Amino acid sequence: MAALPLTDSFGRVHDNLRVSVTDRCNIRCFYCMPETDVHFVERREILDFEEIERFVRIAVGLGIRKLRVTGGEPLVRRDLPTLIQRLCAIPGIQDLALTTNGVLLPKLAEPLYRAGLRRINVHLDTLDRQRFLQITRRDEIDKVLEGLALCRQLGYSKIKINAVAVKNLVEPDIVPLARFARENGFEVRYIEFMPLDAQSLWDRSKVLLADDIVAMLSREISPLVPVPDPDPRAPASEYQFADGVGRIGLIASVSRPFCLNCNRLRLTADGHLRYCLFAIEEDNVKTLLRSGAPDDEIAALIRRNVAGKWIGHEINSTRFVAPPRPMYSIGG
Ligand code: SAM
Ligand code: SF4
Repeated sequence: MAALPLTDSFGRVHDNLRVSVTDRCNIRCFYCMPETDVHFVERREILDFEEIERFVRIAVGLGIRKLRVTGGEPLVRRDLPTLIQRLCAIPGIQDLALTTNGVLLPKLAEPLYRAGLRRINVHLDTLDRQRFLQITRRDEIDKVLEGLALCRQLGYSKIKINAVAVKNLVEPDIVPLARFARENGFEVRYIEFMPLDAQSLWDRSKVLLADDIVAMLSREISPLVPVPDPDPRAPASEYQFADGVGRIGLIASVSRPFCLNCNRLRLTADGHLRYCLFAIEEDNVKTLLRSGAPDDEIAALIRRNVAGKWIGHEINSTRFVAPPRPMYSIGG
């Protein structure tokens, strides 16, 4: 008999899991990590491939169908293609994607493709070397661009570019990024800056709002027309350029929260389960995985986590409390 779907107390069915495979990273985006003295968990605290695969199999048994591998920077995890191959082989996974900063793609895009990966989001906020350096505190833009070109050549499908929208910083990049994407068949997803940085730099005035981005692109390139979404639970609102060339996505977590449609769960690299990016509480899966607990017990913990999910984050309320983990430690 098929298991009941993973449903929370508000009726939201969960079929989407994000698995972070490391909290380490080879660059230092200011809206995610501190510049120095980053606190990483010890290697023995990070789930190994057997543990990740087992957890995913159990979650698939409960109805998870979409998987995204993330981090930290997932490409710094040793032997990542082996893990991808193992995850691809799990019956029931209908969609496997990866989010990366792209720096190691020149080396790994091909092994990952051979391992079965087809969908990739590459994080790139700007085409300007100086601003890239200012944002990431590393001079690695050439490798990201090379990696993107290689992914295209290899035949990855629907390559997306993740760009974080920070006000008074990336306005000059919004249009060039969209033009670059249109020329190369990529889709940019502009993500409103969220209060998940490690240095408490966020405040509302630093968020470049989705509506302002739409206005800018419509004025400078071609009007944007909303596209009916085949998956209304996806976080991005999709728009098509009226001239027919390309689309963009907007992840308006701050100005238009989409919590009511949320179908996502997150497993951190150190084995904690979170029902929301902004969750304050989480469940320790690693202890169960490492103490010989049977699959049923782990499945019950997943169900409990989902059952306890809140209605949504409260970024727009005075009650908002930022989560104790910054973005790199949760897995974006
Ligand atoms: N290192 C990979 C990367 O940068 O794509 C994967 C992990 S990163 C935490 C996942 C995504 O989170 C990034 O693509 C970036 O767009 C987004 N991100 C990071 N910090 C953010 C913040 N404070 N607000 C909004 N998006 C953020
Ligand atoms: Fe690293 Fe990604 Fe965080 Fe940037 S957003 S510091 S690339 S984990």
